[in-house]
Amino acid sequence: MDLRFTPEEEAFRKEARAYLDDLLHGEFAGIRGRGGPGDEHALFDERLAWERRLGADGWTCVGWPTEHGGRGLPLHLQVLWYEEYARAGGPGRVGHIGEGLLGPTLIHFGAEHLQRRFLPAIVAGEELWAQGYSEPDAGSDLANIQTRAVLDGDEWVIDGQKVWTSWATTSDWAFVLCRTDRDAPKHKGISYLLVPMRQAGVEIRPINQITGTSEFNEVFFSGARTSADLVVGEVNGGWRVAMGTLAFERGASTLGQQFGFLSEFAELLDEARRRGRTSDPLVRQRLASAWSRLEIMRWNTLRMLTNADRPELGREAFISKLFWARLHRDLGELAVDVLGLDGLVCDGPPYELSPAQQRFLYTRADTIYGGSNEVQRNIIGERGLGLPAEPKV
Ligand SMILES: Cc1cc2nc3c(=O)[nH]c(=O)nc-3n(C[C@H](O)[C@H](O)[C@H](O)COP(=O)(O)OP(=O)(O)OC[C@H]3O[C@@H](n4cnc5c(N)ncnc54)[C@H](O)[C@@H]3O)c2cc1C
Repeated sequence: MDLRFTPEEEAFRKEARAYLDDLLHGEFAGIRGRGGPGDEHALFDERLAWERRLGADGWTCVGWPTEHGGRGLPLHLQVLWYEEYARAGGPGRVGHIGEGLLGPTLIHFGAEHLQRRFLPAIVAGEELWAQGYSEPDAGSDLANIQTRAVLDGDEWVIDGQKVWTSWATTSDWAFVLCRTDRDAPKHKGISYLLVPMRQAGVEIRPINQITGTSEFNEVFFSGARTSADLVVGEVNGGWRVAMGTLAFERGASTLGQQFGFLSEFAELLDEARRRGRTSDPLVRQRLASAWSRLEIMRWNTLRMLTNADRPELGREAFISKLFWARLHRDLGELAVDVLGLDGLVCDGPPYELSPAQQRFLYTRADTIYGGSNEVQRNIIGERGLGLPAEPKV
């Protein structure tokens, strides 16, 4: 196995690095390093302008096929791009749900008219997306969704409630799982609808999170409407499509985020050095352990990619979400512990959280969203190892 980069790969890295450094030390210097976990509302307009600039210059959706507006980069070059993005302090992307979740879903499952209508606007950063899956009684047990859609002429009429909908307030559209046949068995009567968010029948109520921000929201649909042809996959066949999106959410689309952890670690190490904390043997041990796990994550990603003549990640990727979620949560804990007693208090007034405190609080969510770690273990057991399915209640 040869894990070294080729001259062609190094040339690509150089090109990406020059592009990012030029903009993030020039026109977009103000958003360098902003918009990450716990800082997700920061400088939204500026980050939207950044998204559009990346789109115009061909640096969004880099893994999508060229016929859909992407660069068609193989996974190993995507990794280089994400590494460079993190190294340059690239800001939190406002278009990542469209790019990482809906786009790949449309490319795999969507009819041509849907691809033509929606993909270019994702590439250009012109339309932002939210994911309308979870409901008060449907999280891990997602097939229990109760939001319903009924055809009325050439439109669907939608009623129900979603919850934990990230970035709903800034999204133009959402992909929404709706029950379209109430008599069918649970997994069979679901459709995957594309719904405009800016309409009278959609009410969004932000949820105040422990970080003080409101990344996620309650979303109420009361007679909301969308066109009858905005269904991905078959009517009542949305479960298969929904699972496809989740596979994208847990797989390659998190590469960018994972490489962001490397720069978080670098900041953490600087802080520990500044405070003389690296002479504390327990802190040193945890720093070394975090670094080793980051390296394991990186090498494991590269290992997966050396086998990847196939377009999608294989079953090795099942462990990836479990591994990075736990690692990132531990990094959050270490970030406040490095501050010592300062980690327990806020500078005040106005008592705003420090970046380390924001990170600590936000990373508690890593082992929950995109499917909890317990559910991910079930997936590894059943689909990765072929163990018997857990008993259904
Ligand atoms: C920051 C954040 C952002 C999110 N963004 C979105 C979004 O944009 N759109 C969206 O639709 N949803 C979103 N979610 C929701 C997320 O997908 C759910 O929180 C997650 O699927 C878990 O569902 P739940 O919260 O209902 O917990 P539950 O399903 O009620 O689980 C509660 C506990 O029981 C455990 N559990 C449940 N079932 C099993 C089982 N079979 N075996 C073992 N343990 C089990 C879980 O692991 C968990 O510990 C977001 C969540 C977070 C935290």
